Amino acid sequence: MNSYTAIEIPFNFRNTCWFCGEPDDKNICFPRKEYESNIVTHKAIFLPSCKECASIVKRTAFTSVFAYRDAIKQALVKKHQKVLSIGSNWTEQELLESELEGSAFEGFKRSAWPMFKMMQARINYQGWPVVINNDQLIAELDNEQFEFDGIHYPCLNDAVTHAVKTFFLDEELFTRVLSVLGKNKFSQAIRLCRLYPKLTSKQREEVFLEILDSIGL
Ligand SMILES: [Zn+2]
Repeated sequence: MNSYTAIEIPFNFRNTCWFCGEPDDKNICFPRKEYESNIVTHKAIFLPSCKECASIVKRTAFTSVFAYRDAIKQALVKKHQKVLSIGSNWTEQELLESELEGSAFEGFKRSAWPMFKMMQARINYQGWPVVINNDQLIAELDNEQFEFDGIHYPCLNDAVTHAVKTFFLDEELFTRVLSVLGKNKFSQAIRLCRLYPKLTSKQREEVFLEILDSIGL
């Protein structure tokens, strides 16, 4: 744990989730495990997170905390699609002026818009600059294309998503193995994980250790 450094937290962001701006619940480690540091382009950090952001993404192999944040936002959008659709289907004015009556709808009018506004704010939230020991981590460093099988993906995450779908990989296993091997061994990570398409968490743990063993780690 010694290799992790806490990010600096400006006064007015104390007790705030860096990912979504909600009150924080705990400090999380990024990357989650030290062995994933291979694939991360910056130092290992601690940062404040709410409970939901801390647990909504199960996979790993993110090259930076900014890529991890993108995955969290995507997962939040997917999970809260219903609430977010309120903003697409209604304007606040329409809700206020709506002539629809009935107690169920009254409740909807009172609660729906604040719920939408809150979720919208969480999705749009940009955190604050990530600074450790006076060094700012630059998000742009991460915007590197990644080539696999002759295709240039906008980022590593897109290639991971493609590989998981195409080769029916267990996403959690594949991203853990990839984190250990590094992105230059993307194909090898696929080959190693193809044999284990669907796993329970217990099996995944065993298979992961087996794979580490097989490559001499
Ligand atoms: Zn959060």
